[in-house]
Amino acid sequence: MLSNKSESVKVLIRCRPFNQNEIINHSIKCIDIQQLDNKNHQCTIKLISPKRYRRRISRLFRFDSFYDENHRTEHIFQDFVQSLVSDVTLNGYSGTVFAYGQTGSGKSWTMAGCQCQSENGLISIAIENVFNLIHQSNDEHKFTIKCAYLEIYNEELHDLLLPRNSSKLSSRLELRENPRSSGVHITNLTWKNVYSIDECLKFKRFGDLARTMGSTQMNRDSSRSHTMFSLSIQYQNNSQTKLFRQGKLNFVDLAGSERQIKTGVSGQQLLGSAKINLSLSALNKVISSLVQTNTTHIPYRDSKLTRLLQDSIGGTTKTIMIACISPSEDNYDETLCTLRYASRTK
Ligand code: ADP
Repeated sequence: MLSNKSESVKVLIRCRPFNQNEIINHSIKCIDIQQLDNKNHQCTIKLISPKRYRRRISRLFRFDSFYDENHRTEHIFQDFVQSLVSDVTLNGYSGTVFAYGQTGSGKSWTMAGCQCQSENGLISIAIENVFNLIHQSNDEHKFTIKCAYLEIYNEELHDLLLPRNSSKLSSRLELRENPRSSGVHITNLTWKNVYSIDECLKFKRFGDLARTMGSTQMNRDSSRSHTMFSLSIQYQNNSQTKLFRQGKLNFVDLAGSERQIKTGVSGQQLLGSAKINLSLSALNKVISSLVQTNTTHIPYRDSKLTRLLQDSIGGTTKTIMIACISPSEDNYDETLCTLRYASRTK
């Protein structure tokens, strides 16, 4: 499926439209598309520092693609995610789609869609696609589809699909080295068998609710956690050939990347934020090591997030990083950090 290491990682930028506040305040746009290279599927984007800065600087960044308010999530799906979904479903590959960016930049919009349902997110489009592909394969009964949903808060893993009346006291999950492979295993993670698009979406909504309820009960901010929704697709051919393959597709909505001085948190919350920064920078190091052709050591062990993704990023798997940004000058500093982070993964 993959020709080289850098082919296995795609980095896209998604710039949301101005929000109501920004429109009322006549915010100025600080991002512009400079050049689109359709042939190589590459683009150069320009970020201009605000007028209020002593020196006005224009910075250029190169990425695999750029999407703005004229594009819908469906476009991102067709351009980059669809082929991954097909490889996972029909060929047993693994892949991960990440949404990165400051809080309010459009990560959930991209992954989960909008609450008013006017735009579907990548997760529901992918689920629909998986079921359609299987249906068209004429081998429907040989496939087993499962989903799992977890949250990482303060470097602790929580199962979001644990039944509400479960006898288990806690949703906390542990990571263990898998003795049979080089990857890790999440003990007791709930994997639900799903037989239809609706059923799968129902579990996604169940997990969303568990996350919201957990955040309220523990008085914690959900933008400070990472979530991962996973689909496992197994194919088993019971004929003489006994063919078995298993693909895995993860959607990771990362915690807000904003720097904490700006958000003004202290104490326990600051400690939690340090852990978020640690895991985001560990992820950055892992992805950039994967892209460099001369690197043999990939530092997966540096955070829970990278450890649990050990078998889903790198090797023959495919990674798509969607860096979400605001178009407004007001968010210039955070946008610069996001673009720097995203360009380090290329
Ligand atoms: P995040 O998950 O990064 O905190 P959200 O996805 O919740 O951010 O986006 C914040 C708000 O911005 C949304 O409620 C929505 O109103 C708006 N928004 C984000 N992305 C888009 C988009 N592509 N098109 C239209 N509105 C968007």
